[in-house]
Amino acid sequence: MRILVCNDDGIYSPGIAALAEVASEFGTVRIVAPNVEQSAMGHAITASRPLSYRETPIKGFSAYRVNGTPADCVALGAHQWDKVDLVVSGCNLGLNIGNSIWHSGTLAAAKQAALLGLRGIAFSAPSGLDDFTGLKPWMRRVLEVLAPANELPLVNVNLPKDPRGIIWTRVSVRHYDGLIVPTQDPLGRELFWFSVKPLEGADEGTDRWAIEQRWVSITPLRLDLTDESLLAECREQRPMDESVAAVVSPPVSSPE
Ligand code: MN
Repeated sequence: MRILVCNDDGIYSPGIAALAEVASEFGTVRIVAPNVEQSAMGHAITASRPLSYRETPIKGFSAYRVNGTPADCVALGAHQWDKVDLVVSGCNLGLNIGNSIWHSGTLAAAKQAALLGLRGIAFSAPSGLDDFTGLKPWMRRVLEVLAPANELPLVNVNLPKDPRGIIWTRVSVRHYDGLIVPTQDPLGRELFWFSVKPLEGADEGTDRWAIEQRWVSITPLRLDLTDESLLAECREQRPMDESVAAVVSPPVSSPE
């Protein structure tokens, strides 16, 4: 099994070395990761300049650093290494639960794998962690379940500091933890920090709740964001006749 390892914290993060070590028990590992931190870059790709792909051995693993985003790394890594079977991303220094999945570069790397028809698994742990020794057995247990699970194209895994076990969860979307904090530059001009506020009291069965209860959280995700019940309702209650459909999708005309 060929396992491509990526992250958004940058190729020199302790989290990616820990994940590569665990992944190497399941197959041949190659690391392709950003040369600098790309956290909260989401699923951005670099389309306005070329990318470099430079060899940088990490802990004895074949590894390449890229001056791009996590999604760039997966696209380029899959291009440069035939027949990748699985992409694992992380282990991120910072949880990716609830609304974070929209901003996360860690998860974007796994999503890029799924977009390419590969499988992607994102791993995240609390920020401030510098020693993954205690979490590596849990990452191994998760991969024992997920590595052979070909029917799961995209999975988001979050690990608390001291896990008591592993459970399946859904995404917590009841609260948004984003916070904008005003500040000033040295000349007194207004600036803003994008930050987060602590949230508590998540709904049972969600990823946020699992982490609060010290469970390792595994959430199967899908790429299709279509709201099926709303779509059915829209088709029934707001039927589109042909003239309206024509306004929504005008025929393509050639430029003068
Ligand atoms: Mn990160």
